[in-house]
Amino acid sequence: MPGAATPPFDPYDPLGLDDLLTPEDRAVRDTVRKWAADRVLPHVADWYERGELPVIRELARELGAIGALGMPLTGYGCAGASAVQYGLACLELEAADSGIRSLVSVQGSLAMYAVHRYGSEEQKQRWLPSMAAGEVIGCFGLTEPDHGSDPAAMTTHARRDGSDWVLSGRKMWITNGSVAGVAVVWAQTTDAPGGIRGFVVPTDTPGFSAPEIHHKWSLRASVTSELVMDDVRLPADAVLPEVTGLRGPLSCLSHARYGIVWGAMGAARSSFEAALSYATTREQFGRPIGGFQLTQAKLADMAVELHKGILLAHHLGQRMDAGRLRPEQVSFGKLNNVREAIEICRTARTILGANGISLEYPVMRHATNLESVLTYEGTVEMHQLVLGKALTGLDAFRG
Ligand SMILES: Cc1cc2nc3c(=O)[nH]c(=O)nc-3n(C[C@H](O)[C@H](O)[C@H](O)COP(=O)(O)OP(=O)(O)OC[C@H]3O[C@@H](n4cnc5c(N)ncnc54)[C@H](O)[C@@H]3O)c2cc1C
Repeated sequence: MPGAATPPFDPYDPLGLDDLLTPEDRAVRDTVRKWAADRVLPHVADWYERGELPVIRELARELGAIGALGMPLTGYGCAGASAVQYGLACLELEAADSGIRSLVSVQGSLAMYAVHRYGSEEQKQRWLPSMAAGEVIGCFGLTEPDHGSDPAAMTTHARRDGSDWVLSGRKMWITNGSVAGVAVVWAQTTDAPGGIRGFVVPTDTPGFSAPEIHHKWSLRASVTSELVMDDVRLPADAVLPEVTGLRGPLSCLSHARYGIVWGAMGAARSSFEAALSYATTREQFGRPIGGFQLTQAKLADMAVELHKGILLAHHLGQRMDAGRLRPEQVSFGKLNNVREAIEICRTARTILGANGISLEYPVMRHATNLESVLTYEGTVEMHQLVLGKALTGLDAFRG
């Protein structure tokens, strides 16, 4: 029962989850929220409608200045933030647009993380400080036109020629590709020790090009590209020395997926708040639509899933900070939170009626963005299979 010290019910934080955060956590969250409110929200509907992110280089520098790039990494100009703080930043960025969170995830959790975890000291010194500052944008090339969920079958390959490597192949659906100064590219190698290796490729290397992919109906305020590598000659030290095999890219993806667990709840929060505000002001049949039981049922269910999702993200963040987070737990979080987030956005769309399809409101933009988020970094089905395997001990991946 509420006592004298019990705070009033907050429709925007019904479980009082703010109490879980430290003052430092709140400071990080508020900084990123303010940046997104000032620099993204006034423009993002226009960028989305035009299908471009024209100021991506400026945004990257500003994100670097607030410490959002490679946020949980240490040294080399990175912020060394906690996993929970990184998650809160992802949530605030995705509350603005999934495209902005994707820019940050790919830069920090895929490209920089790969170099930070598996690179040589020279590679770290050369790339990480400028990437942390947002002066150099990075991309991460794993998916190919014919190999998505099954990257082990990739055909991009690197062969030795003297001490050099010669890289050839194509990657598809690569976030940040056309604006990247450096690409982390995964390729099959035949030379010892063989297997899949990661290469750090300056994008001005002859033979490398990154045409942008157009005609997307999702993640429109994000740069998505092909990577074309036609006998790209790289020095011996372009390879990431500390990892071989698929566990290299998969560990990077697990790190980025952790950010998505939080980020998806940002898109959901934005849509929920738009729906709640609309429901209390829009009148039909002479009363606010929020007074109808069916609308209240929708809002209650949305709030329950939203705040359960944030609680789950916070729990995984604490496990990551304690060094106890397993990849299967990240799959659990990504599967649940993206699936629930898209459902929240779709329900919000119904509450807004016809206005729900307009870019005047964020919900349709979030819903269509989440169609990509549902697929990238492991599809819903892949995460169900990861959990299914963990639960049963039986591997269903290959049918
Ligand atoms: C906007 C956007 C940005 C992206 N950015 C990047 C990036 O920066 N870097 C990068 O490397 N990739 C990126 N991707 C690619 C993304 O990771 C892949 O799209 C994803 O891994 C799925 O691969 P696919 O599209 O080839 O689908 P497929 O693997 O062809 O899957 C198609 C369908 O079949 C299902 N399926 C496949 N195998 C099985 C199975 N064994 N059992 C049951 N169902 C199965 C899938 O779940 C899915 O529903 C991006 C994608 C998008 C849309």
